[in-house]
Amino acid sequence: MSGTRGTRVLVLNSGSSSVKYQLLDMGDGGRLALGLVERIGEQSSRLKHTPLATGGEAREWTGPIADHDAALKAVAEELARDGLGLDSPELAAIGHRVVHGGQTFTEPTVIDEAVLAEIERLIPVAPLHNPANLTGIRTARALRPDLPQVAVFDTAFHTTMPESAARYAIDVETADAHRIRRYGFHGTSHAYVSRETAKLLGKDPSEVNVIVLHLGNGASASAVRGGTCVDTSMGLTPLEGLVMGTRSGDMDPAVIFHLMRVGGMSTDEIDTLLNKKSGLIGLCGDNDMREIRRRIDEGDERAQLAFDIYIHRLKKYIGAYCAVLGRVDAVAFTAGVGENAAPVREAAVAGLEQLGLLVDAELNAVRGDEPRLISPANSRVAVAVVPTDEELEIATQTYALVREESN
Ligand code: ADP
Repeated sequence: MSGTRGTRVLVLNSGSSSVKYQLLDMGDGGRLALGLVERIGEQSSRLKHTPLATGGEAREWTGPIADHDAALKAVAEELARDGLGLDSPELAAIGHRVVHGGQTFTEPTVIDEAVLAEIERLIPVAPLHNPANLTGIRTARALRPDLPQVAVFDTAFHTTMPESAARYAIDVETADAHRIRRYGFHGTSHAYVSRETAKLLGKDPSEVNVIVLHLGNGASASAVRGGTCVDTSMGLTPLEGLVMGTRSGDMDPAVIFHLMRVGGMSTDEIDTLLNKKSGLIGLCGDNDMREIRRRIDEGDERAQLAFDIYIHRLKKYIGAYCAVLGRVDAVAFTAGVGENAAPVREAAVAGLEQLGLLVDAELNAVRGDEPRLISPANSRVAVAVVPTDEELEIATQTYALVREESN
């Protein structure tokens, strides 16, 4: 396979109107550049590029970028300006984040026509994400057809869930006909954070049981036994589970029939309501935890109620996953809220002493980028903050696969 002598990996995360990218050197794990193209297809598209290798200033410009092809070419030009062009023999592979791999993709996979066809076949279960991911892959393949390109799936880590956790209790034939089951998402983050948590405890992942709480704008929990995922809170789509920035998470499905029959709402309106106008933003008008905390400090009752509902659900999942795992060694908080919002961590664990969870107020107040314990020495279960790094995980998996294939 050509190009595998290099050590650089470009990670691409292609959304419907955006492309996020990072260029990493797997020789030392260092980040060479990162950036973002937003509002693709509009007159005011924006590119922001940070050349970490040269230590230069971030470069930003606004102007029309018609499509993903133009976006990737603009990214390639920015990288070339730093001497990091995509035509460099140093580039070993491109790793693509792909949201939905269904039951087919249990591992990172080198992309060929058959893989593309399968990702396309999965569009009905991921109508928003997979088409955008496919566009990104096709564009990158056209730019560097000779280079190995790898798909890393958000669902892959969760494919080990037992049927008892993965199946909904609905008619089996109907479920199978429409591929309805719990797939879970944020898998790359859950995999990375559960492993890093084991490292923090000085143990091998196979020795520890971890509850990972990925609390970003989207949020999910997972129960990881000895390095293997046994349950997670997101389901067929990312709508299930925890209260999120704009998503409702769990609720009685009959709410939907009620909104249709009594509220006169259409399917699309309900979809938008539950995915974009619910969760924290629906409850109090804000989805940023910093703003919610600020309002609570000013005595705002709606913000307080939104926070309480968020914490109540989080606590229920911690309790549920203690029951699923039986023995828990660590609970790890990660992503924007989990890494930064000490009051969320404190409230989520408060009152769970019987389950062996304690948080030390001083340790919890410490800020930092490194994995760290926030539980006191006498806590039976370690409580930790473990910053996630999905790009590093995608690059690591991509590089490992490409090296393996070239040997
Ligand atoms: P995503 O990748 O899902 O968009 P992130 O993991 O980046 O989300 O998390 C974004 C969220 O993190 C914000 O919406 C905000 O609620 C929260 N957040 C970020 N920084 C802080 C902070 N310093 N304190 C509290 N919450 C924060």
